[in-house]
Amino acid sequence: AFYALNFVPRYRETVREKLGAILETGNSPLYPDPLRLEATHREGYEFTAELSLVAVKRQDKWHAVGLIRAISGGAGNAQNSRPLKGAGDTLVGQRSAELVQLNEQLKHEIYERQRMEKKLEHLATRDTLTGLYNRNEVERRIKKDMALAVRYEHPISFFLMDIDYFKQINDRYGHQAGDRVLRSLADTMNKSVRNTDYIARYGGEEFVVVLPETTISMAEEIAERLRNEVDDTAIEFDDAERLSITISVGVSAYPENGEVWTELIKAADSAMYAAKNHGRNRVCVAPRLS
Ligand code: GH3
Ligand code: MG
Ligand code: MG
Repeated sequence: AFYALNFVPRYRETVREKLGAILETGNSPLYPDPLRLEATHREGYEFTAELSLVAVKRQDKWHAVGLIRAISGGAGNAQNSRPLKGAGDTLVGQRSAELVQLNEQLKHEIYERQRMEKKLEHLATRDTLTGLYNRNEVERRIKKDMALAVRYEHPISFFLMDIDYFKQINDRYGHQAGDRVLRSLADTMNKSVRNTDYIARYGGEEFVVVLPETTISMAEEIAERLRNEVDDTAIEFDDAERLSITISVGVSAYPENGEVWTELIKAADSAMYAAKNHGRNRVCVAPRLS
């Protein structure tokens, strides 16, 4: 919708600034809170609009995708805002027909708006390649779930995992094959964790799994099972060529490794590096804080 609009001059700089920030940092100041501004539609009328933008990463570049919602004035509502004929010169039946039609239009608009909002939320919280949560979203969830775990003294566990020798796969089979591998790994992970657990793409080929209500020893077993499943999965390519990958996994948990989420991620990260150093394709558990 961007090209169809002209922002009133005093907003142009603001919009340009926010857009610049998104493209540079991948963080959007316009989601979830939109920017309210005046705009001119290409058909000439002015209206008040809300602009939401989310950052989407594609091929290592940030893009901004957004939704403009007209909250007053004519855009999209030109027909709806046409005044109804007065009751005096209109038959009651005709009037009801108009109302029914108006109601249908409104329902349709609400449906479309909700669909767009869902789409926008999906874009803001997911990684586009794998469909897993993105880093911002998983950190938001981890903070919330850690606070609950600590308050009620319930266990919670974390995996940090990284594909072994992934660079070789890109080098040998190409970047697209690499992307295919990432998507296949996301599928394998989705199949092997419970639906109360959640997974995120944390970096290029690094993933986080969060397991609420799970003790460190249970988590170690699950990580071992996942590592094994990934090792056993053959990834097929178009030309029927197959390859398989391995992962190194670091496991940490509350209460063993701290009470602050950053400490737990750090502990899982160190354990993951220990797994790499011990030959890869293995699970290492973070040492308990003394
Ligand atoms: P190690 O076992 O030590 O982890 O070796 P590695 O080769 O996996 O480690 P390294 O961190 O050196 O390489 C990670 C590679 O992941 C480098 C980068 O090209 C690739 N990568 C990161 N993001 C993507 C992506 O979105 N798609 C593809 N195809 N490759 C990616
Ligand atoms: Mg890596
Ligand atoms: Mg790697």
